[in-house]
Amino acid sequence: MYPLNNIIILAFMAIFATQACAQGSEPDFEQQRKQMVSQQLRSRDITDSRVLDAMNRVPRHLFVPVRMRGYSYQDSALPIDYGQTISQPYIVALMSQLLTIGPGDKVLEIGTGSGYQAAVLAEMGADVFTIEIVPGLGTQAERLLKSLGYDSVKVKIGDGYLGWPENAPFEAIIVTCAPTEIPEPLEVQLAEGGRMVIPVGESGFQQLLLLEKKEGRIRRQKTIDVRFVPMVDNEGNTY
Ligand code: SAH
Repeated sequence: MYPLNNIIILAFMAIFATQACAQGSEPDFEQQRKQMVSQQLRSRDITDSRVLDAMNRVPRHLFVPVRMRGYSYQDSALPIDYGQTISQPYIVALMSQLLTIGPGDKVLEIGTGSGYQAAVLAEMGADVFTIEIVPGLGTQAERLLKSLGYDSVKVKIGDGYLGWPENAPFEAIIVTCAPTEIPEPLEVQLAEGGRMVIPVGESGFQQLLLLEKKEGRIRRQKTIDVRFVPMVDNEGNTY
């Protein structure tokens, strides 16, 4: 018979050993993140060092469901909760680069989803206002962003088609769900000299457009073909 003290010590040692083992076998996410930046972003056309630095810092694996963590740094979009998706890292980087934002810029995001894109913009120094229509996703993202210290991100649950007039105008607007037409309220809420990136088109086939407001007029430019989830209203109808 062991004295009780020894049993307690042995139990603690066993727990400690299991934890150490689990930590030792955890994938090296930092290394994977560095590789993602060099192989998927730098090697393509992502040249803005603020985008590259931000994506090197944001722990993408914490924004995907636990069962998907092992795939966090792969070159693809991934499913998140409520049937939505977190965009491919390259698309997050490209959209962030197209916005050409600087520290202190007010940026509106439509489609908070996991909160990952918002975190990247916050790392670039932006004041981020992000709107999510699925309450469960919005509150989950808000909690995660707060726990990671992204205090410059404000999350609102609602229909992003309408924008966030109380905080307009925005130097940049990023839309991460796809309407078939550009929502007029968003054009109105874009600041003079501001930029908007938005996927526009039917479900599954959209073009990523870059809009610029100059002297009150909107100039559009097509970039690449993309696939985003549709922008929907509160009844689930697509815009
Ligand atoms: N930017 C996200 C990915 C967004 S997926 C990220 O980094 O993870 C697209 C999101 O847009 C989904 O969460 C979807 O619920 C949301 N969405 C769709 N229509 C919307 C609307 N009208 N207003 C706000 N969010 C909307």
